[in-house]
Amino acid sequence: MAKGPIYLDNQATTPLAPEVFDVMVPWLRDNFGNPHSAHILGRKAAAAIEVARDQVAGLLPTGGKLLFMGSATEAINLGFGAVHSLKDMGRNKIIILDSEHAAVRDTALSYEKLGFTIHKHPIGRDGIVSLDRLRASIDDKTALVAAMLVNNEIGVIQPVEAIAELAHAKGALMLCDVVQGYGRVAIPDNIDMAAISAHKIYGPKGIGGLWIRDGIDPPPIIHGGGQEQGIRSGTLSPALCAGFGQAAALCRDRRDSDAAHIQALSDRAQSSFADWTINGSTDQRYMGNLNIRRDGIDVGRLMSDVRDVAFSAGSACASGSGRPSHVLAALGLEPAQIKSSIRLGFGRYNSLDDVERASQIINKAVEVQLA
Ligand code: PLP
Repeated sequence: MAKGPIYLDNQATTPLAPEVFDVMVPWLRDNFGNPHSAHILGRKAAAAIEVARDQVAGLLPTGGKLLFMGSATEAINLGFGAVHSLKDMGRNKIIILDSEHAAVRDTALSYEKLGFTIHKHPIGRDGIVSLDRLRASIDDKTALVAAMLVNNEIGVIQPVEAIAELAHAKGALMLCDVVQGYGRVAIPDNIDMAAISAHKIYGPKGIGGLWIRDGIDPPPIIHGGGQEQGIRSGTLSPALCAGFGQAAALCRDRRDSDAAHIQALSDRAQSSFADWTINGSTDQRYMGNLNIRRDGIDVGRLMSDVRDVAFSAGSACASGSGRPSHVLAALGLEPAQIKSSIRLGFGRYNSLDDVERASQIINKAVEVQLA
């Protein structure tokens, strides 16, 4: 990996795996055929895309179809469209968790002007949804329940299988944003749609996908040449698809060793940051995410003082928007606690030494602040 600050922001994005880079290069340099062309160059590119599709789909529920597209954000926008046909049957309610990523939250809110009511369902102080409260909220007017697998800000894992059961019991669909769990956390087989993104699993930026159970047909949101079964027009990039496929294959092959490594990094971090408090559940979580707070510190100042560690204040996905973290607010944290929270994200290419050095640098800057 290139020299630079110690990178502890693996929820925002991950470095490209060297094996992924190697697989992509020939598709960028030598094999330039359009995968939608009928000649030999096109057929070669199309075949590579299908290999990649199988590799990526191998970590998703069985059956159904996987469509490649530009990002998970696009996948979520496309998947939400499945509610249109349900509205004709009198279902005009959409339920999302209050802790969903902006890609789900803002997409859901855009349906308000189409006549849907949007319910932002609360989460507990540990960041997990109460199934009893959710059961009471889903009714036979509900078209869609959207709940994420692993939260991008606090890492907690939602009981997605049970949520899908509750949705199905009332005839609603269940869309799951699995972006932060795909390739690392088991994905239940009973969800109806899943959105994924390559750049969170050591793959390239610019490619995501939507997995859709058979029988669910969201209308296209991009029109044109009819690629991806007529649902997502636009020429696919064989390089991006092949890179996504290789990244997924690596996640599968390295699942146990990656998990053990992430656990070791998390254990080290938790002892190095023992004076901090963890935001969200301490056990129902993906260990590659540590969102912690220390009373009395100013994270804005901390981030400008600490130049040698790349980490995040709250969600990097929302950074630049100026919006305070709605996830930390949904946990019931006070504004001052939210402002004193940081997110550390560990990945495959971090070492124990990275965590050790980063904790020393951050804790030293904190002691200066608190002195
Ligand atoms: N959902 C979650 C949970 C994320 O962390 C992200 C990343 O920013 C997204 C959706 C959006 O993914 P993409 O960058 O592929 O649009």
